[in-house]
Amino acid sequence: MAANPQSNPKSKFSVFSLVRNALSYHQNWEQQWRSPDPKPAYDVIIVGGGGHGLATAYYLAKECGITNVAVLEKSWIGGGNTGRNTTIVRSNYLWDESAAIYNHSVNLWETLSQELNYNVMFSPRGLLHLAHNVHDMQEIQRRGNSNYMNGVDAEFLTPAQCKQMVPFMNLNCRYPVMGGVLQRRGGTARHDAVAWGYARAADALGVDIIQNCEVTGFRIENGVVQGCETTRGYIGAKKVGVVVAGHSNVVADMAGFRLPIESTPLQAFVSEPMKPVIDCVVMSNTVHAYVSQSDKGELVIGGSGDPYVSYSQRGCFNQIEHVVGPIVELYPIFSRCRMMRQWGGTTDVTLDRSPVISKTPVENMFFNVGWGTGGFKAPPGSGHVFAHSIARGEMHDIAAPFSIDRHYSGALIDEAAAAAVAH
Ligand SMILES: Cc1cc2nc3c(=O)[nH]c(=O)nc-3n(C[C@H](O)[C@H](O)[C@H](O)COP(=O)(O)OP(=O)(O)OC[C@H]3O[C@@H](n4cnc5c(N)ncnc54)[C@H](O)[C@@H]3O)c2cc1C
Repeated sequence: MAANPQSNPKSKFSVFSLVRNALSYHQNWEQQWRSPDPKPAYDVIIVGGGGHGLATAYYLAKECGITNVAVLEKSWIGGGNTGRNTTIVRSNYLWDESAAIYNHSVNLWETLSQELNYNVMFSPRGLLHLAHNVHDMQEIQRRGNSNYMNGVDAEFLTPAQCKQMVPFMNLNCRYPVMGGVLQRRGGTARHDAVAWGYARAADALGVDIIQNCEVTGFRIENGVVQGCETTRGYIGAKKVGVVVAGHSNVVADMAGFRLPIESTPLQAFVSEPMKPVIDCVVMSNTVHAYVSQSDKGELVIGGSGDPYVSYSQRGCFNQIEHVVGPIVELYPIFSRCRMMRQWGGTTDVTLDRSPVISKTPVENMFFNVGWGTGGFKAPPGSGHVFAHSIARGEMHDIAAPFSIDRHYSGALIDEAAAAAVAH
C-alpha cells in the first residue's frame, strides 16, 4: 500500500523502546496523537471519540483505504462511557445476531494489543453468571445451549464448582446459588487503553482526532448530509458516522429524526485496593450485582441501571445500598472493605437491549448507538463492521440485523435477559 502523505508514523512500543527511553529519563517519548485544526472538509466525519468512534476511524483507514477522516469529540477522547465502564468483555448473548457481532469482537480483542501495538490489557479471566432461582437456571440453560450452537463457549457449573472458582462465595445466602454458566473467553480489558490505542493507531494512518469540538448541527441538502456545524466552525463531509453513546437522540434531533432510545444513568463503584482475591468476573442478574478485581487490586462493582431517564453522570446512595447489600451477602469477606469511588454514565437503552447500527433517513449519515449498558465489549467488532458499512454505503452482513427498522418491523433482537444486570 502506498504511504499516505498525511500519515504520522509512530515508533513501535517494545522492550527496546522502553529501555531506550529509560536511558533518556523518559523525556523523549513522542506525542501519541496530533491535535490538528479541522480541515474544511473530509471524506468521512465520525462524531464521537469513544471506543466505537475511534475504532471505526481506525478500520476506515486501515481496511477501507479511507484516510481523509476526522473524529470530532466534544470533550476529550474516552471521556464518555468508554472511560466510565466496568470493563467486562463477553459474547454469551442469546440470539444468533448478537453472537455474530459480540463474538466477532471477542475474536478481535484477543489480538488487539498486537494489532494496535498498544497494550489494551485484555484479560480473558473467565466470566461467571450465577443462577439464584429456577427462572435464572432456565435462562442460563437456554442461553448456554444457544451459545453452544453459535460456537460461543459456555460451561454449566454446579454450586460446588462455582465455589471452587470463588472459594469465599456464600452459596446459602438469601438467594442461594443454584448453579452458573461460565464463559472462559470472557473477562476484562483496560478501558482508557482501548480509546488511546485506537486513537494512536488511527492517527498514525492519517486520521485527524479533534477534541473539544462539539457537533451542534448538520447541513443537509435535499435529504443528503453535506457536513457538520461545530463549535470550531463548519466542516464538510461526504459521509457522517454518528457514535455518541448517551446523546444519541440529542444528535438525531439535530438531523431531524428520532430514535427508539431512552437515556438512563448507570453507576459503578470501586473499593480500596487489596491483595488479589477474585480472579474472574462474577455476575448475578437476579440480585443486581457483579464484581471483579482490577489489576490495581480494587474491587470493581456494579449493578443495574437507574430506573429513570436522565443525563446525570453522578452516583447516589440508594444505588450503593441496592448493590452492596447482595455483594456482602454473597461474599461476606467484603463487608469490611471500604468503597473508594462512585460514578455514573449515561447509557442509551433500546427496547430490546440491542444496538442500532444503521442507515438513517438522511442519505450518507449512519448511526451506531444504543449499546446501552453493554457496549464496552464491542468496539473492535462494532467499529470494524461500521467502517465497512460506511465505506460501502451498505450495511455489513453482521450489522444489517441491527437496523433502526427492526423497531417498526418487529424483528427485535431481545437481549433483555442476557443483558439484565447490564453488560
Ligand atoms: C457505569 C458503567 C458501566 C459499564 N460497564 C460496562 C461493562 O462492564 N461492559 C460493557 O460491555 N459495557 C459497559 N458499559 C457500557 C459501555 O461503557 C458503553 O456501551 C460504551 O462505552 C459506549 O461506547 P461509545 O464509544 O459508543 O460511547 P462513548 O465512550 O460514550 O463515546 C461517545 C462520545 O461522543 C461524544 N459526543 C456526544 N455528543 C457529541 C457531540 N454533539 N459532538 C461531538 N461529540 C459528542 C461524547 O463526549 C463521548 O465521548 C458501562 C457503562 C457505564 C456507564
